[in-house]
Amino acid sequence: MSAQVQPLKASWSIEQATQAAFEPVPFKVYTQRDLDRIVQLGRLSPEQRFEMKVVSSVLPFRVNQYVIDELIDWSDIPADPIFQLTFPQRGMLAPEHFERIASLLRSGADKAELDQAIAEVRHELNPHPADQMEMNMPRDESGERLDGIQHKYRETVLFFPSQGQTCHSYCTFCFRWAQFVGDKELRISASEAKTLHDYLRRNTEVTDLLFTGGDPMVMKTRHLRDYLEPLLKPEFDHIQTIRIGSKALTFWPHRFLGTEDADDLICLLTQLVEAGKHVALMAHYNHWKELDTDAAQAAIQRIRSTGAVIRAQGPLLAHINDDPAVWAKMWKLQVKLGIVPYYMFAERDTGARAYFEVPLARAWEIYREAMQQVSGLARTARGPSMSASPGKVEIQGVAEVAGEKVFVLRFIQGRNPDWVQRPFFAKYDEEATWLHHLKPAFGEEKWFWEDEYEAIRCDKLSAAGLAA
Ligand code: SF4
Repeated sequence: MSAQVQPLKASWSIEQATQAAFEPVPFKVYTQRDLDRIVQLGRLSPEQRFEMKVVSSVLPFRVNQYVIDELIDWSDIPADPIFQLTFPQRGMLAPEHFERIASLLRSGADKAELDQAIAEVRHELNPHPADQMEMNMPRDESGERLDGIQHKYRETVLFFPSQGQTCHSYCTFCFRWAQFVGDKELRISASEAKTLHDYLRRNTEVTDLLFTGGDPMVMKTRHLRDYLEPLLKPEFDHIQTIRIGSKALTFWPHRFLGTEDADDLICLLTQLVEAGKHVALMAHYNHWKELDTDAAQAAIQRIRSTGAVIRAQGPLLAHINDDPAVWAKMWKLQVKLGIVPYYMFAERDTGARAYFEVPLARAWEIYREAMQQVSGLARTARGPSMSASPGKVEIQGVAEVAGEKVFVLRFIQGRNPDWVQRPFFAKYDEEATWLHHLKPAFGEEKWFWEDEYEAIRCDKLSAAGLAA
């Protein structure tokens, strides 16, 4: 727990308490170039530190002093879950990729040769899973792609503000890692609030806006205000819910504490709630340790004091949280702190996937065993769920039907709303880690949704000028 907390007066409001307890703390960040400046890494061998340099040449690395000082137990590295969540490990690259980059670094290869090899390795890591780029980006009347907007499900629009395309620290398993490696081709971002507002004005079937990144909470409040405050005009009454995807409660809870900009953010959230919007902070959590500091808990209280709801979601990951006890403890602590457990995701098929993936059969066991340990209020978490191109597919369970062992699946969200909640079945496969590894059960040749999905895909790809 933090040493920064002053004694609190029992009569203080949440506002007064969190303001008084937390003086502004400077944000100090480290990237690949600074690995040697992180004092705590001195306890690793030179070979281990070199391995980190190799991996962080390919995958993005960024960590800050709060994570280093308050979240990682340095007496337990490399096993510590938050160390695994933020620091590069050798196994995150396939052996042939690792060796290729390592030998270039060892031989002092010139920058052009190294950059070329890094770019090639990155391209083999499926930088845009689930066809995000081609299938989810809407177009204007003239067929131009509207950068920064994704519209996959009828009622929900995702917006990627350009100032929010980074995070206070990076997760080693990040499914949006491609945005952080400096390849502009791979970025999904918008520079204009006008693009967003025009799109929402035209699409009145949209009820939910998900503001995402990176992490929109890296933005100054005045920029967030430029995007969100106009939504209070009557022409945007159809936008009922504003969700903000963020890991700031883990990586930088001081974003919500102790500064004028934090106060302004709290005012903005209050203003949105008081105007009748449902404001949900979609907090990304992977481990109960992220909730276990004074700053994290004070930030949670302060957000809740605005009337905004905090919902918790995150992937199931080997080396970090592939243990029912970790999930049960995390969900219990979330409920205690007033957070609503929302999703357990399967790790996406991108980046360092092979290091983190857990077979779907095991993921379902972990989910089930964790659920059995918690009360009804924590059983709001859905999962394990795959955010695949056709939709969000949940493993509902393993069963034996007509003598065949099967996975029972359902769409939580689908490209066609008619698919949602219809149970369907896959042959049981102990090794499968993603939807495309599964085969329909009972001798069926196709999924019930497959022809329709292919037709949607062809349409989208041809609109994008790409062959299906
Ligand atoms: S918080 Fe989300 S976007 Fe940011 S690094 Fe982690 S997984 Fe990626």
